[in-house]
Amino acid sequence: MKFTKNGSRATMNGPADWFTGKVLVDNVKSPDEQSAVGAGHVRFTPGARTAWHTHPQGQLLYVTDGEGRVATRDGVKVIRPGDSIFIKPGDEHWHGAAPDHFMAHVAIAPADEDGNVADWGEHVTDEEYNVKVEEA
Ligand code: MN
Repeated sequence: MKFTKNGSRATMNGPADWFTGKVLVDNVKSPDEQSAVGAGHVRFTPGARTAWHTHPQGQLLYVTDGEGRVATRDGVKVIRPGDSIFIKPGDEHWHGAAPDHFMAHVAIAPADEDGNVADWGEHVTDEEYNVKVEEA
């Protein structure tokens, strides 16, 4: 058994190249020689969101707190605690908090053969963020 104690890894700020707004990331697991799976617990303050991006091996989001948004080029959906969302490999998308609520999710994504879990694109504009949302 490998036990990593609470607090032994510092919470990181989500990099400004990949996120809009204040986002805090706790690493759960980096891809390693045992398993290509990487996972993080990500907390978005109200209005904060990822940039547009894709995952070479897909990504599972498990919402733990608050109210958020997940979007593809086809539209924006509301996400809430207990929801699981699987993003298919290569699908362009973003995820983040609702405008007036924080949101936290666990994000799980396997790395590809180069160790890459995501490919990042443009930031999500306010116009793209503030569209009418659909209940999932
Ligand atoms: Mn993603």
